[in-house]
Amino acid sequence: MEEHQHKQGQRAVVIGAGIIGLTTALRLAEAGYAVEVIEREARACVGSSKANAGQLLYDRIGAMGSVGFLRGLPATMFNPDQGVSVFGLANPARWPWAGAFLRQCTTQRWQENTRGLLDLAARSRRVMAAVSAQYGLAYDWRKPGKLIVHPTAERVAAADQAAQFQAQFGGRHEVLGVDECLDHEPALRGATRTIAGGVYLPDAEVGDCRMFGLGIADVLVAKFGVRIRYGVRVTGLVYSGGRVTALRSDQGMIEGDVFVVATGKAAGELLSGRFSGKRRITVVKGVSLTYPAGDAPPDMSVTDAAGKFVVMRLGDRVRVAGYAIFSDGDAIKPQYVPRLADKARALMPKAARYDAAPDVWVGIRPQTPDDLPMIGQAGAANLFVNAGHGSLGWTLAAGSAEVLAEKIAVADLST
Ligand SMILES: Cc1cc2nc3c(=O)[nH]c(=O)nc-3n(C[C@H](O)[C@H](O)[C@H](O)COP(=O)(O)OP(=O)(O)OC[C@H]3O[C@@H](n4cnc5c(N)ncnc54)[C@H](O)[C@@H]3O)c2cc1C
Repeated sequence: MEEHQHKQGQRAVVIGAGIIGLTTALRLAEAGYAVEVIEREARACVGSSKANAGQLLYDRIGAMGSVGFLRGLPATMFNPDQGVSVFGLANPARWPWAGAFLRQCTTQRWQENTRGLLDLAARSRRVMAAVSAQYGLAYDWRKPGKLIVHPTAERVAAADQAAQFQAQFGGRHEVLGVDECLDHEPALRGATRTIAGGVYLPDAEVGDCRMFGLGIADVLVAKFGVRIRYGVRVTGLVYSGGRVTALRSDQGMIEGDVFVVATGKAAGELLSGRFSGKRRITVVKGVSLTYPAGDAPPDMSVTDAAGKFVVMRLGDRVRVAGYAIFSDGDAIKPQYVPRLADKARALMPKAARYDAAPDVWVGIRPQTPDDLPMIGQAGAANLFVNAGHGSLGWTLAAGSAEVLAEKIAVADLST
């Protein structure tokens, strides 16, 4: 309440109405700021937050950069089954990111980065439960658990080893043989992909990120009187005396007392040259296909570790998501869609109406080299960033918003 009164009358401007900007706006509105959200598109959650794989994985997540990633890279690069393409990193503009990423690929850095992600995710779990209950949000949420299947016993053992490290920070997992995998998730019956066993995560949740974001947007407007300005593109920041005094936009100047850059992959454009933070964001493209559910849709979300794709159910829809392509733009090669669909069908033959034309989405993971998002002050007393959530932005959004709101609450915004 004290904080609420302290912030009364102060204006916070959040740039970006993706899942990160919206959850941040909610936290700031709850803290008593008069919040304005600026979004260049015509609606909320049409960028990276639109049709992701929907997984809320709070306790068995790990940083991308690891010794295992490097070791597997040569095989990965020339195996179309995996859908990973790192050739875009050959572009000199990406070399600084690639160099920073390579430095994360040690056991020690993986453990530190993974621990950072797990801390943030644990916070997210608590905040998400509270926010969902408080505002009664409907977003096809379920807690069905998750299964990660592997093609060889060695791969199962390696996955178990990583999970043992993560287990130090809480959560549960269980190693299953192939028959147990099929018992846990009958939608796998009839699979023609090789399954030697799997790791089962009983506490994993799923939910529709976009539905949640649109629900938050409604709450912001209806309950807190937040103004969400769609179709307004921020083009620059106006600095004076170590502070930001206003935003430049294609619709004129926008003034405020606190500014938050939550523009996902575009964060660098607004912060470049100013943000003293260590990390850059590169884009890692992915694809999702959303189908009507078939005769035997999965209950839990299932990752095929060899093919690097996920099949999961959101209400009466089944979503398949995969690919990690280091390249810009929204275009994908035409063969990517049938290839992903074929892999899903081979894993779960009756999960979806594969004969129907799926909703195809090409999305971007805003990826930092160490996989940890940038949350904090950004080169001026009253300028903050909340961006770079990679493949885990849906999971980490609520916790990230809380962390940033706490940082803003104790920051000296005047100098
Ligand atoms: C294939 C795929 C699967 C994924 N699966 C999962 C998953 O299962 N679980 C999970 O936790 N995460 C997952 N993710 C990651 C997650 O979707 C992202 O991390 C998250 O959506 C990032 O949210 P964001 O708000 O930072 O970015 P965005 O949603 O892109 O929001 C940024 C917003 O800023 C706006 N903007 C940008 N520049 C400006 C400007 N100058 N002026 C005004 N507005 C601007 C954009 O229009 C956009 O709306 C997945 C991602 C992909 C691609």
